[in-house]
Amino acid sequence: MQIRTRLTLQFLLLGGLIMIIASLAIYYFSASFRKDDFSTLLRNKARNTAKLLLDAKTIDADRVMLIERDNPVKFQDEKIIILNFLNDIIYSSDENGEIVVTNEILEKIRLGLKVEYRQEPYDVVGTLVLSKLDRFVVVVAAVDSQGFLYLRKLRTILIVVSLVSLLIIFAAGWFYSGRALKPISEVIKNVEDISITSLNLRVPEGNGTDEIGKLARTFNRMLERLEESFAMQKDFIANASHELRTPLTSINGQLEVLMMKDRSADDYRTALASVLEDIKSLINLSNRLLLIARTSAESPGYMYKKVRIDEIIWQAREEIMRFNNEYHINISIDNSLTDSDQMLILGDESLLKVAATNLIDNACKYSQDKSVNIKFEPGEKWIAVAFEDRGIGISEEDQKKILEPFYRGTNAMSVHGTGIGLALVNRIVRNHNGSIHISSKTGKGTRVILTFPIIT
Ligand code: ADP
Repeated sequence: MQIRTRLTLQFLLLGGLIMIIASLAIYYFSASFRKDDFSTLLRNKARNTAKLLLDAKTIDADRVMLIERDNPVKFQDEKIIILNFLNDIIYSSDENGEIVVTNEILEKIRLGLKVEYRQEPYDVVGTLVLSKLDRFVVVVAAVDSQGFLYLRKLRTILIVVSLVSLLIIFAAGWFYSGRALKPISEVIKNVEDISITSLNLRVPEGNGTDEIGKLARTFNRMLERLEESFAMQKDFIANASHELRTPLTSINGQLEVLMMKDRSADDYRTALASVLEDIKSLINLSNRLLLIARTSAESPGYMYKKVRIDEIIWQAREEIMRFNNEYHINISIDNSLTDSDQMLILGDESLLKVAATNLIDNACKYSQDKSVNIKFEPGEKWIAVAFEDRGIGISEEDQKKILEPFYRGTNAMSVHGTGIGLALVNRIVRNHNGSIHISSKTGKGTRVILTFPIIT
């Protein structure tokens, strides 16, 4: 069901409910007002009749009849019954005996209670009249045709007014919900025009302050991010193909030259060693590209296990030292670290090791003394690991971009690399809900701090 239809129906239901409750209340109070009003009239009638009786010296049915005949205050189908203290009927205009006055009712009247009841189609009122001669009970009954006519008319009016109001409520609901939803319809129309090739289009944000404006703004921000990530993906593919092509072209060239003529065993060995070097860097590159792809998706947190970050750093150190024994990797532990639980984080051991080896490798690769100092700084809810070197440093301009895939600093041109390392570290850290902070000064050195939330 469309929102507009649903809103209108809800509007109608609410309006209808209010109308029904209001109409019922009006009808109920009018009916009870009619009853009270008519009962008061009947009671007055009873009292007046009684007064005339009391004025007389003797009670006599013919006299009552005479008085009643000339009485200008008469109701439709009026019946008067008068009973003496022995409950004998001394006067009754109810010839057919339609009005039933039970002993129970008589008792109530004699006790002086207010007795009013309905005996279709009559309203009946009973009252006690005291005189020197007797204690009379006067019962007056009549049909309130005027009152019921009024109630019937009122009922018709209420039904008609309710139906007309419901129609108006429906029309107003349809009109206003249409007006309220118009901006959404416009957003939908605009969104339909947006496709992969036109991600630069945006939806109108209106005044931007109401809910729909906010929705449109959120949607536009999402489009911006999508556009950005599409552009990044395009760049990434172009860069990746370029990086893969370089060693492949080199291998191709070397093999072609090698095959031009017969060579000595030494020449073959040298050429093959060079090709092998290119193949290794190809393997290294494709491994890193795979890791980038693996860490691009949302972090699969449920796969993470409890790991100790210090153990990972020691393992990374060991791995790097196996192939680079000229590196100096010093690990120091802060005095405030008293409990091994302060090192416990949730994570993927292999990915964290990749991040650590990249940072250690960079620090040694880009410093003359080929050394790095690694420090652990514990916090209440986090653990920070700092990698410090006294190397060539990174210029401020480069610092803004070095986390982008394939970006290589101007300082690094003479050093072999692909520009993927820091981008990978950044993604791994982000997947672990951590953060990376780089501070560096050209010629002085670089400090990279990784912060991870610990298990508390
Ligand atoms: P790569 O080292 O393969 O070039 P990275 O992504 O690891 O790629 O690093 C990106 C760039 O950041 C490097 O090219 C270099 O300019 C700069 N860089 C990273 N770490 C350091 C460091 N410790 N000292 C100086 N420059 C660094």
